[in-house]
Amino acid sequence: LQATLRHLAWQTGQIAKGDFSQRVEFLGEFSQSFNWMVKQLEAYRQRILGQNRELERLATTDPLTGVYNRRYFMDFATKEFLRAQRYSHTFSVIQMDIDHFKKINDAYGHSAGDEVIKAFTVNCQEVLRESDVLGRIGGEEFSIILPETEMEGTLIVAERFRQAIADLALYVDEQVLHFTVSIGITSLRQDDASIDVVLKRADDALYLAKNGGRNKVVSAA
Ligand code: GH3
Ligand code: MG
Ligand code: MG
Repeated sequence: LQATLRHLAWQTGQIAKGDFSQRVEFLGEFSQSFNWMVKQLEAYRQRILGQNRELERLATTDPLTGVYNRRYFMDFATKEFLRAQRYSHTFSVIQMDIDHFKKINDAYGHSAGDEVIKAFTVNCQEVLRESDVLGRIGGEEFSIILPETEMEGTLIVAERFRQAIADLALYVDEQVLHFTVSIGITSLRQDDASIDVVLKRADDALYLAKNGGRNKVVSAA
């Protein structure tokens, strides 16, 4: 009995460390309730892991579109800035804002506006790579970080995307709806002091695209 109790103590320690494969095979009824307890503990852990994943998803994404929210995007952008600087790599930023979105809401209604925002992100994701991070920064404002991407490649992606949106015929409530997007892009420069400087430069380029007549891509070289 001494030896089996020693083994039981050891098993309890293993279970406490998260090894839920341990089972007891002596002492009749005791082993039944002990094994049941171990199974319950494992079930609890699985449930908590699932809930944590769901909380993580809720905390990092936007409910309307499922793309990353502003907080996640800013965290990622900051990390990407530090990583790129440290290893002398590059990355680019695409800043986008849907044109005359207020008019879309006014003409077709708020829920049609929501459909436009959703269609926008779906189209965006088709053009992007796995490593690119798309975030919804505000109502109809979106930003993308493109790791390891130079200005040249970023311009191609942005232009392809601008064209795809301009060509899109979106059906909402049996009406066909067209819209456009203005885009500012930039890439990391060696003397950039922070991610804010990079994002500001992309914002300024977006502003120029708006003032230049919208449905345009402007790069801050
Ligand atoms: P511009 O071409 O200069 O960008 O004009 P705009 O009308 O798009 O300008 P602005 O950025 O001022 O308008 C954004 C509007 O988007 C204002 C707000 O009512 C609307 N909006 C913000 N979030 C949502 C949303 O989740 N759904 C809908 N339907 N509308 C939203
Ligand atoms: Mg807008
Ligand atoms: Mg806006």
